[in-house]
Amino acid sequence: MNCPYCHYYDSKVIDSRDVNDGIRRRRQCLSCGSRFTTYERLQPSGLFVIKKDQRREEFSKDKLLTGIRKACEKRPLPTGAVDKLADDIEAELYRMGKPEIPSAVIGDMVMERLKNLDYIAYIRFASVYRQFTDITALKKEIDNLVSDERVSLPTSQLPLLPAEELGGVAKSGRRSRKWKQVVGPKTNK
Ligand SMILES: [Zn+2]
Repeated sequence: MNCPYCHYYDSKVIDSRDVNDGIRRRRQCLSCGSRFTTYERLQPSGLFVIKKDQRREEFSKDKLLTGIRKACEKRPLPTGAVDKLADDIEAELYRMGKPEIPSAVIGDMVMERLKNLDYIAYIRFASVYRQFTDITALKKEIDNLVSDERVSLPTSQLPLLPAEELGGVAKSGRRSRKWKQVVGPKTNK
């Protein structure tokens, strides 16, 4: 690799250490003396995604990242959370060791993780990915989230509703009364 400052072709390694999935080398240019860092990483063998229409497309982390970023746009997520999510999914896909993976499997992996990260991003992603055909399907998904949230709120999760509203719904028991009305009194046949 040429020196990024003077483009001289040769450098010496002054430090080298193992990082997660490769080797990091600290180098010094033999011409201008500038120091720079290079990473050496194994190029994973090709991974292909099986699309809905059965076409195969080479897996692209950039594409994955674009989809997740869109869903997380303007959400108050910690810096790096989205990149980490994409990194985790990529790593898991390669760990599976399969040459081809259906796009639905990847979509589900994203959904699963977004659910633990941010409900709004999750709903946004789901509305594109699951292609909710009507408002009822979307409402059902949100209802599931709200009732899940009352049972256990993941610590990393941003609340979907302000705390008072959640408490109000839980205390009023609106849901159970409504349920009784729908079921109605028992009838004997
Ligand atoms: Zn140089």
